[in-house]
Amino acid sequence: MDHFGYRQDQLFAEDVSLSLIAEEVGTPCYVYSRATLERHYRAFDSAFGDFPHSICYAVKANGNLAVLQVLERLGCGFDIVSGGELDRVLAAGGRAEQVVFSGVGKSTAEIRDALSRGVRILSVESEAELERISEVSQRLGKEAAVALRINPDVDPGTHPYIATGLRENKFGVPFVDAVRLYQKAHALKGIRPAGIACHIGSQLTQVTPFCDALEKVLDLVAELKTHGIELDHLDLGGGLGIRYADENPPSPGDYIEALLATLRRRGCQMHVTLEPGRSIVGNAGVLLTQVEYTKAGPDQDFAIVDAAMNDLLRPSLYQAWHEVVEVNRAGGRPTHRYDVVGPVCESGDWLARDRMLSIASGDFLAIRSSGAYGFVMSSNYNARPRPAEVMVDGESFHIVRERESTASLFAGEHLLP
Ligand SMILES: *Cc1c(COP(=O)(O)O)cnc(C)c1O
Repeated sequence: MDHFGYRQDQLFAEDVSLSLIAEEVGTPCYVYSRATLERHYRAFDSAFGDFPHSICYAVKANGNLAVLQVLERLGCGFDIVSGGELDRVLAAGGRAEQVVFSGVGKSTAEIRDALSRGVRILSVESEAELERISEVSQRLGKEAAVALRINPDVDPGTHPYIATGLRENKFGVPFVDAVRLYQKAHALKGIRPAGIACHIGSQLTQVTPFCDALEKVLDLVAELKTHGIELDHLDLGGGLGIRYADENPPSPGDYIEALLATLRRRGCQMHVTLEPGRSIVGNAGVLLTQVEYTKAGPDQDFAIVDAAMNDLLRPSLYQAWHEVVEVNRAGGRPTHRYDVVGPVCESGDWLARDRMLSIASGDFLAIRSSGAYGFVMSSNYNARPRPAEVMVDGESFHIVRERESTASLFAGEHLLP
């Protein structure tokens, strides 16, 4: 459920008309709904009841400071995959103790920084990384809490680019190596094996793969116990899907209920962490764009809009489908079938294909479900300044990131003497 919808013929975010935002802030522009973010976080948090848990929002889905701030104020923690994301969390008012640090390629500097600031736990994705964390931690005179990220070899049934828990993926350590690596972690100085983690992919629309992965991880926890290694943190990652088109993903409540059933049946007493990204922020954002031109083609018509693949990469990268709707439906325009494309000089620069739209030059469109993996994946390709970001809160809205200027794009460049 989200707080975007029509009042008469006008699309609103909460109590603010999106036409008004497009006129005042300009386009392209991302618009987020605070009420939607809060609703989604609470759906996760409350489904756990009194089972000990943490919800650590995956910052990579949308790292805007105001998004992090809204979640932090509800008591949400954070999952980060870089030192830059740690800086963002702290700048938004978060604390390092609320942070779990994942990612396959943590640099020495990132590890040092994370440990000295006191992040709660590091997910370790290779033997070499385990050794590096041990060295850095000893130099700092610390004991780093770590979880090994296990690759459970479970097929999440999602796009190949966002499947992460298959044997051939670069993520995590193989299941068969886990016991040996935990024994090594146990023996290494500066390290405390505190937990176990897995994250099998993104945009999952079934609970079965999550439960299969959980069973495998719990088997491993039991086996480790027989070797005298007791873990108290269980991190099940993120990955719950959202509805872009006609998908029917489980609700956060149904998903957590399924996990809890397994956890209870297996008598698990561990503290459970989830790292949802997309399912918190995906349907809490839209990308507003303006139609520049319509153009008749031999086979289909084009709606050439002012947003492009540099602003929203998902269609080009994953052939992702986003709903595209008219912001004002009262225009009485003729309806045609369009490919919605941007101004970037690539044939791969399209946002939506084969859509029936009633539009003319100057009209605004909203590209829905753009809150996750939208702005964060944007670039300056074709010297395009990145869009503004706006947060709607009830009857008001706030610019939470200013539109870039072209001058800012080359501010760090130098001409030869
Ligand atoms: C990307 C990622 C997430 C978030 O995934 P979503 O599909 O956005 O929920 C969580 N944990 C880890 C380790 C990730 O890499």
